[in-house]
Amino acid sequence: MKVSKSPHKPLIFYYIIAMVVLMLLNAFVFPSLNSVPVSEVGYDEFMRMIDAKQIDQVSMGTTEITFTSKDSGGNILYYKTGLWPDANLVDRLYASGAKFSAEIPTQASPLMEFLMSWLLPLAFFLIVGQLLTRYMSKRMGGGNALSFGKSNARIYIESQTGKTFEDVAGEDEAKEALREIVDFLHQPERYREIGARLPKGALLVGPPGTGKTLLAKAVAGEAKVPFFSIAGSEFVEMFVGMGAAKVRDLFKQATEKAPCIVFIDEIDTIGKKRDGANGFGGNDEREQTLNQLLTEMDGFDATKGVVILAATNRPDSLDKALLRPGRFDRRIPVELPDLAGRVAILKVHAKDVKMEENIDFTIIGHATSGASGADLANIINEAALHAVRFGRNMVTQIDLEESVELVIAGYQRKGAVINEKDKKIIAYHETGHALVAARLKDTAPVHKITIIPRTSGALGYTMQVEEEERVLMSMDDALNQLTILTAGRAAEEEVFHSITSGASNDIEKATAIARAMVTRFGMSEQFDMVALEQIVNPYLGGEANMVCSSETAARIDAEVGDIIRKAHVKAREILEQNRTLMDTLAKYLLERESITGEDFLRIIREHDQAIA
Ligand code: ADP
Ligand code: MG
Ligand code: ZN
Repeated sequence: MKVSKSPHKPLIFYYIIAMVVLMLLNAFVFPSLNSVPVSEVGYDEFMRMIDAKQIDQVSMGTTEITFTSKDSGGNILYYKTGLWPDANLVDRLYASGAKFSAEIPTQASPLMEFLMSWLLPLAFFLIVGQLLTRYMSKRMGGGNALSFGKSNARIYIESQTGKTFEDVAGEDEAKEALREIVDFLHQPERYREIGARLPKGALLVGPPGTGKTLLAKAVAGEAKVPFFSIAGSEFVEMFVGMGAAKVRDLFKQATEKAPCIVFIDEIDTIGKKRDGANGFGGNDEREQTLNQLLTEMDGFDATKGVVILAATNRPDSLDKALLRPGRFDRRIPVELPDLAGRVAILKVHAKDVKMEENIDFTIIGHATSGASGADLANIINEAALHAVRFGRNMVTQIDLEESVELVIAGYQRKGAVINEKDKKIIAYHETGHALVAARLKDTAPVHKITIIPRTSGALGYTMQVEEEERVLMSMDDALNQLTILTAGRAAEEEVFHSITSGASNDIEKATAIARAMVTRFGMSEQFDMVALEQIVNPYLGGEANMVCSSETAARIDAEVGDIIRKAHVKAREILEQNRTLMDTLAKYLLERESITGEDFLRIIREHDQAIA
């Protein structure tokens, strides 16, 4: 739990005090100021009144002349007028019979005067200033005015998060990646002895509600080390310059408390690309904070045992500098859970509420494809509320199913849930990629297939992992790649006799490969080894520049089209020959939503044995 800040009085409280003081001063110290109405008149009017002998008393001030007169009822009226260089005034006043005097400047004792006019206001402002500073520094984490800008550890340190990996269901890959960090925090000496340097920072990337924050807390809980947590937005909402100061202080404290974890949630708030595009000057504050963060990450000694974790659901918006080696160079995907993951998450949260014995979580899991961990936790809670509403003292299957509708309905509006038909198409599409990859020679083995939407926006995903690093791509490799890329679309054609937009990413990749084959790798019969394109600026993404005539460009396009078409035909053939196997695999994938490489190979092997 976060340690709560001591309650403080709101700013308005001090304003009220100041107002009251002013009003008291007004009422008792300067009563004459506003108790009598003084009308301002012109000097000519003053002259006229003198001549008409209407004036009783005249007082000559340093900036104005005040005088009194009586109206017909005998009431005293007060007037004032500005000073005028009038040498005859005294004579005329004397002649009119009015009483007149000048203010004696030092009426009060000089000391009193000084106190009243200088010290009193000064003291007043000092007090108000003090109150304000104290109020502000309290808002920023306490301490006195001198430590202004020093963030207070109490805000974000959570020594015992009380979470462990047990609390995080599913997400096995993310947990595996984080285990190493836990081990490092447990015994930094072991790593230090060898001279191993762990990544300074790991970035948890995934859609909202998939348990990124939870995972970070679990790492701290597992390693039993202090956990400094702060959200990116907290840096920015500070006063100008405070963000950077806060980062500096955060790292200073973390180094003192090492081994420990610093967790920056929603890092995209400060880590956005510095593009200078947001108008005049941009968000300087954010940029300073980001720069400070980069400096600190470079500066501190990773062998001490400070690990920086950060989370974001918008990795593509992050500044490249943050992802450089030595910073957040390790990226841990935290994806939406598959069926098994969803069931596990439901079970974890079901522990907190009273449930009937024979609940079937698999049904709920099936009904919630596309839901995040947070959604599932919400479903359990809604089910409990539903049970209470219907006077039950235990959650039943019906409660769960009702709450699924409630939570998922909100979800369907967002379009995050994929309907059965689309899901089937996606399953066949991905199976197509994987099956063709398996049937071609010399291709990287399939590591995983999933039809769970990815952070990247992909609806499904077939992951191949090369067994060894390759530096050269042979022409066969390139053609194989193209065949695999076109196989998704080929599967859709084979099974559904229609095509969808789902292959857009494949098309993009295939085009890039085929194009490079023709224009840069010299892998086409037509052009042989002629460089038709040049890559400029290879460090900045590499933009290709055509270095050929426009007729040649047209022929290149035709050649690229040819290469891809051939690959597409080949993919189609392979799938036709393996139709039953494809059906088996697609059905399996549709049911589980993800298949591991081993399962995939096992099914293929079993199938091959059966027909042999
Ligand atoms: P994120 O930071 O990725 O947006 P959170 O970590 O804040 O998501 O998750 C919100 C809540 O959802 C958690 O507190 C937890 O109750 C639930 N939750 C999310 N993922 C999981 C999971 N894998 N296992 C168990 N609970 C989860
Ligand atoms: Mg979060
Ligand atoms: Zn595809």
